[in-house]
Amino acid sequence: MALTNSQYDAIMRIYQQRQLHNHALLLKRQEEIAKKLPAYAMLKEEIISLSMSEVKRQLLSNEDSFIDTKEAIQSLKKDRENLLVSNGYPKDYLEEIYTCKDCQDTGYVQGRKCHCFRQAEIEMLYAQSNIQALLKEENFDSFELDYYSKDYVDTATGENAYTVAMKAYDVCYGFVKHFDLEFENLLLYGDVGVGKTFLTHCVANALLESGHSVIYFTGHQLFDTLAEQRFGTASSNSIPEAYQHIFQCDLLIIDDLGTEMTNSFSTSQLFLCINERFLRKKSTMISTNLSPRNILDTYSERTFSRISGNYKLLKLIGEDIRMKKRLGNA
Ligand SMILES: [Zn+2]
Repeated sequence: MALTNSQYDAIMRIYQQRQLHNHALLLKRQEEIAKKLPAYAMLKEEIISLSMSEVKRQLLSNEDSFIDTKEAIQSLKKDRENLLVSNGYPKDYLEEIYTCKDCQDTGYVQGRKCHCFRQAEIEMLYAQSNIQALLKEENFDSFELDYYSKDYVDTATGENAYTVAMKAYDVCYGFVKHFDLEFENLLLYGDVGVGKTFLTHCVANALLESGHSVIYFTGHQLFDTLAEQRFGTASSNSIPEAYQHIFQCDLLIIDDLGTEMTNSFSTSQLFLCINERFLRKKSTMISTNLSPRNILDTYSERTFSRISGNYKLLKLIGEDIRMKKRLGNA
């Protein structure tokens, strides 16, 4: 699934707007500092004048004074930095501003697409443009353990909902923390409203922030997208290109697996996704209302064995949080 020319142009326009916006912001900061800290402008002038005399000296090839001037410039720069900091500004307040430091908002690093470009591509191709805004609300900091009752006990294990949720949180947090070092997969399961989707959002949010490419689908959306690719306009192409991002992104999240209509297509496609990502050592996170037993019955045995053998299984329990929030008693 490749970008059309107009999609590519749309992404490049985002970069241009970003550059303009950041440049305008820098100009504003410069004006602000010029007004508030006149000493800053004086230091700047001194640096410029020293640099100019330095150029002249270089023409005369006077090595000793070259070193002197260089040190003097460094020390003035340090003064300038200290002036900002002592007035409560960050020391890089007047440096170029970049939304993505890696590519300096060009979308490319040494001729290759930057991670931020790959994510923009995913959002454009899979209509996930609102994902980042949506996820902002739900992250590890806003996860509330208080929704889980210590009185709600799983009769099978004897553990209460609070402890179970705390453990699940820790596992998800660790998953993000070690994401670049360890290849891991997660399966969150449990009844409706126990916070599974919330945790998938926490993980997606944290990994997007650290510059990873994330595709977020509900089971529904995943199979609809794959069906469109397979049977729609792109049907004449071979599979690899159409599926490339889904197989290759840093993290694939399949939320609410099992609520879609299952048929032989979805069964085979689920295995294909899970297996391909496993072979490429790319992490997958699944949330579902189905128990492991139901997964086995609903999908194929080979899918079940891939999941049970290679995923950390986390069961969440408790009362329906959505209901609690609606009633306002939590
Ligand atoms: Zn970038």
